[in-house]
Amino acid sequence: MMATSSGKGLSFVKRIYVPRILGKAMSLLAVTAAIAPLSAPIWLWTLMVFNGLLWPHLAYLWASRSPSPYAAEQRNLLIDSVMAGFWAAAMQFNPLPSLTILSMVTMNNVAAGGRPLVARGALAQLAGAGVGILILGPHLQLHATDLQVYASLPMLTFYPLALGWVSFKLATTLAEHKRRLSDLSRTDSLTGLFNHGYWKDRLHLKFLICQQRKSTAVIALIDIDHFKVINDTYGHVVGDRVLRQLSEELKRSLRDSDLAGRYGGDEFCVIFPRATEEQACLAMERLRERAASYRNAHLPELRISLSIGLCAYRADFSGPEQWLDEADRALYHAKHEGRDRVDVAPPLPFNGLRLAWPE
Ligand code: GH3
Ligand code: MG
Repeated sequence: MMATSSGKGLSFVKRIYVPRILGKAMSLLAVTAAIAPLSAPIWLWTLMVFNGLLWPHLAYLWASRSPSPYAAEQRNLLIDSVMAGFWAAAMQFNPLPSLTILSMVTMNNVAAGGRPLVARGALAQLAGAGVGILILGPHLQLHATDLQVYASLPMLTFYPLALGWVSFKLATTLAEHKRRLSDLSRTDSLTGLFNHGYWKDRLHLKFLICQQRKSTAVIALIDIDHFKVINDTYGHVVGDRVLRQLSEELKRSLRDSDLAGRYGGDEFCVIFPRATEEQACLAMERLRERAASYRNAHLPELRISLSIGLCAYRADFSGPEQWLDEADRALYHAKHEGRDRVDVAPPLPFNGLRLAWPE
């Protein structure tokens, strides 16, 4: 948990590093032009060079070595705000460079911390301006020379570009994370197939499509026979390997449009969109045969067999649950009839009465 939060803080600190170097260098240009005519004391020039050229590196080291880089970077951003307020006072509130610096720093605060940081940043700017007035006196210089206007232009043009670029990079990284998370949230970690929840969602959708477009689809439930015995005899590691190998075999034997999932434990599930019962039955027969011929060189005694229940969509189904129930009944029948077989749920006879499985 610690590693995660400090990782998050570190990437935040790194993201701000280059924009701060650029922003501070461009501010230095604007502040230099504004202060040059004001016969400023030497300590002010020193502070200006320190803040413009050294501070970004110091801020980076300070935050990245802190036990909580995120909080440290928020503090650094507040220091930026205090300094912006101070430089505005030092420039005697010369409108163009002062507003440029204050608004760029505020833009940083919006991007980095939203409303709370903007509010705290505004207070910090006021505090900085107050300190500036206390030390340097209250002065107002409303006139900007041409040089001062030009010296503010890089900050006004390039800094928003840099910040926009950083925001774009962040947005693409987030989009990629979101895609990966969404993949993870629908994948079964052991087999890489769809997990129970996502497969059920797809079944629901497929049911609605069949209902609305009067199309066909078949579902299959596949269960490994006596899997508990495999676990008990060879151990869970071998059991897991069997599950993985079977899911690989399943993926190989299906079309791209078929949707295979792990229903849970040793049970798998497939939706065959737009397939006839015969096509799905054939595919499942092939899978059953492949499983039956499975041999493991290290465990020559190990055998696998599958029981499979199939059910085609029928217009009289009340919902996807009934469709699934019918496939489950077909699977139960396959188990009941001796396992290692594929069974199909009985179709609806012409008089509307469903055939019952023998009890
Ligand atoms: P049947 O022929 O009636 O299906 O017999 P079975 O032994 O397969 O019956 P059951 O469904 O009761 O057993 C499934 C077993 O699968 C029980 C459980 O310990 C095991 N199992 C469930 N999930 C996993 C898993 O992720 N890995 C392993 N190795 N075993 C699992
Ligand atoms: Mg089983």
